[in-house]
Amino acid sequence: MVDKTKVSVWEIPLAILKGFYTTFKHLFRKPITIEYPEKIRPAMYPRYRGLHFLERYEDGTERCVSCGLCAAACPADAIYMEPAENEKGERYAKVYEINELRCIFCGFCEEACPEEAIFLGKEFEFSADHRDKFIYTKEDLLVPWPRKKPSEVEFKRKNRRVF
Ligand code: SF4
Repeated sequence: MVDKTKVSVWEIPLAILKGFYTTFKHLFRKPITIEYPEKIRPAMYPRYRGLHFLERYEDGTERCVSCGLCAAACPADAIYMEPAENEKGERYAKVYEINELRCIFCGFCEEACPEEAIFLGKEFEFSADHRDKFIYTKEDLLVPWPRKKPSEVEFKRKNRRVF
């Protein structure tokens, strides 16, 4: 019977040489990884789902009418809202909050919204040092007005999966 616990004298230097060969093979290759956060990928994939944002109409009014369909569709129970009416009798979300720690970024809220008010954007850098900072309020989520970049509604319509 062969004793497998015994190692021949040549096996150890051979294993070391193999290790060096592997190291040197990769030494002059272009790295696949990038030095985040110094370098950031120029663009996320078109269907990447990151931090939510609440859209506005072209006149700046909020699209969300606080119907609650996003909250009903959310499997993680991450959305909370309180509706109210403005002076014209139109519904809007007086309170709109998303707990990004609960969120699983499934995109169901975006699909459920009949007003095209909520979307998952490309933002992925929203780390924080306290749990409370992951509760995003309406003020955090609404796109700035006047707009700093063009609306993504058209882009989202084109890229939406239709079942
Ligand atoms: S992406 Fe999914 S889990 Fe996150 S808030 Fe929307 S429906 Fe809920």
